[in-house]
Amino acid sequence: MPSVKEVWQGLVKDLKEHSFSSPAREARLLLASVLEVEPSRVYLFWDEELPPPKLTHLHDIFKKRLQGVPIQYLAGEWEFFSLPFRLRKGVFIPRLDTESWVEEAIVYLRSLPEEKIMVCDMGCGSGVIGISCAFWVENLYLYGADISPKAVELSKENAHLLGVEKRSVFLLSDLFSAFPPVKFDVILSNPPYVREEDWDSLSPEIRLYEPREALLAGEEGLDMIERVLKEGESFLKEGGLFFLEHDPEQKEAIQKLADTLFLEYLRSIPDLSGRERASVIRKRRSKNETAYR
Ligand code: GLN
Repeated sequence: MPSVKEVWQGLVKDLKEHSFSSPAREARLLLASVLEVEPSRVYLFWDEELPPPKLTHLHDIFKKRLQGVPIQYLAGEWEFFSLPFRLRKGVFIPRLDTESWVEEAIVYLRSLPEEKIMVCDMGCGSGVIGISCAFWVENLYLYGADISPKAVELSKENAHLLGVEKRSVFLLSDLFSAFPPVKFDVILSNPPYVREEDWDSLSPEIRLYEPREALLAGEEGLDMIERVLKEGESFLKEGGLFFLEHDPEQKEAIQKLADTLFLEYLRSIPDLSGRERASVIRKRRSKNETAYR
């Protein structure tokens, strides 16, 4: 039987031959998946032998990778904000750029004086945004929602794995339609925001394997963003905030939209390339307007 190290070396060579850009990393992620260990621990198994059933499994997922299945689905586990999340086909793959604004949201949430902080993650997908916040803010109560049953299921699983299941509820819901009358301090959302005409220019890994409904949002890509703001407003406390991801080119339209609602556009948050990838928008207070906390 070959050792883990030998198998890893073979995989790196094969992945290189097929022009994958990060062969060493991908080989480690595929091995972690068959060994059922965290990717960072693969090297600890270097000298162990890989038994035939695991080799067969590895061969199967390697073949899928060659067909173009995203590595995130094959790895089975994906990190977001330094936390391990499960991921499966049918659910949107979390992007690194999202971490930039989630970090700001966590800092804000930790500054709130409320005993119980109520947070919504609208369009939660695998649950990474809301669950990371719940993990790092221990008095946070989370309502996650998604229109996809697979996403809701996976979010529940992830909340359980990360130990925040007692402080989270996940609803199968078209926007807020299935919500009880609850008021949030913060509504977080990475809704679909890709413009229809941009669909064909996305990479095949995205187009063929990720759920279209998690990405596409009408002609300008603004359909869901508009609904999140319009329908979410009545679920926010006065002075409550939206943290909303969008395409950098959509910022102005979102600013205009906020002006037409009872909302105040506060600021944008840059992604890892410095582009305006998210916006912070506040629900106005009906009487004395007070400063942004
Ligand atoms: N940033 C994602 C992409 O470019 C889109 C995310 C979304 O629609 N929520 O693929």
